[in-house]
Amino acid sequence: MMDMKATDKALAPGSVIGILGGGQLGRMLALAAAELGFVCHIYAPDGDNPAFDVAARHTGAPYEDEAALARFAQDVDVVTYEFENIPDDCLAFLNQTLPVRPSVSVLSTTQDRIDEKQLAQSLGIKVPPFAAVSTLADLEKAVGDIGCPCVLKTRRFGYDGKGQTVIRSGDDLAASFKKIGEQPAILEAFVPFKMEVSVIAARDLSGNLALYDIPENRHENHILASSHVPADISDQTRQQASIIAEKLAKAMDYVGVFAVELFVVGDGADEYVMMNEIAPRVHNSGHWTGDACHVSQFEQHIRAVSGLPLANPERHSDAVMYNLLGAAALDIVDQAAKPGMCIHLYGKKEAREGRKMGHITQLSAAKAK
Ligand code: AMP
Repeated sequence: MMDMKATDKALAPGSVIGILGGGQLGRMLALAAAELGFVCHIYAPDGDNPAFDVAARHTGAPYEDEAALARFAQDVDVVTYEFENIPDDCLAFLNQTLPVRPSVSVLSTTQDRIDEKQLAQSLGIKVPPFAAVSTLADLEKAVGDIGCPCVLKTRRFGYDGKGQTVIRSGDDLAASFKKIGEQPAILEAFVPFKMEVSVIAARDLSGNLALYDIPENRHENHILASSHVPADISDQTRQQASIIAEKLAKAMDYVGVFAVELFVVGDGADEYVMMNEIAPRVHNSGHWTGDACHVSQFEQHIRAVSGLPLANPERHSDAVMYNLLGAAALDIVDQAAKPGMCIHLYGKKEAREGRKMGHITQLSAAKAK
């Protein structure tokens, strides 16, 4: 399937990987990096940063603090990130002296919902009808053109349903625009999808691509609740989704792991996918990979950004990954007693309602597809 040839640019064991972002994704990346003999230095603004607890070094400073960034740059051999809402200037500053993987241009494209959709369209990838909205007059026109129901989202800095609102016929558009802070936005047609899926893809420095099996993702209150692999989709849909990931990876000259979130629409022979968004990082819907495959998305990402060849992403088990949200999620004794249950807690100090505190993966014997 893929060329497993090593690159000649691989970092030596003991090299330092700089990770921007101190959340659970940074924590799991640091754990995977340690397994490969690398040292991690995490950089994140002060706060509850569970990645700090498992990394050799950390810096707690704002992404705008050039003196702190310069000290961080002196210490690390490559920079990656676990969080897409990092200011472009921060990455550009680090990129003056260091490789940044994935690249600065990947981050700026995927931070903007319109740039991201235009990239997809230029590659022939279907996306929901959309329009850019900067003013209330734009919104009124866009709702007239696209029709209801539709979804208004901030162009930048949205996640887990934050910064978005559904508009139904008769809604007060001024109130909807206020709800998202009257920021530059995108209006999208509401897609009557039957399922949401994602492709978790890794691409190395030589351009080799490794795709994981596709999970179905179920959301509650806009937050991922569970991922089920394999998704119950046709071979044709699976292939379409894989081609989308391949095209995007190539077009962005991507290095590392990314996820592309897709809506599955239509039935039977008419089933097809539409792109929702790209996450330029390891992704919640890929958390099962470490338990159900021979290599996790976290290790795959560290391999890619350090110049190592990718590992085979083949799956050995079927899996359902459940997010553990809020304080109740920390009561894992009953879960721990279940056969085939893999437990991952993130060590966050404060268990606010709806906060991702950990995840569990229930493994079962792989059924033939
Ligand atoms: P997003 O932040 O864009 O990933 O949106 C979060 C969730 O909102 C998605 O996973 C979908 O469940 C839902 N959603 C977002 N955009 C649309 C859309 N255009 N049509 C229908 N549902 C959507």
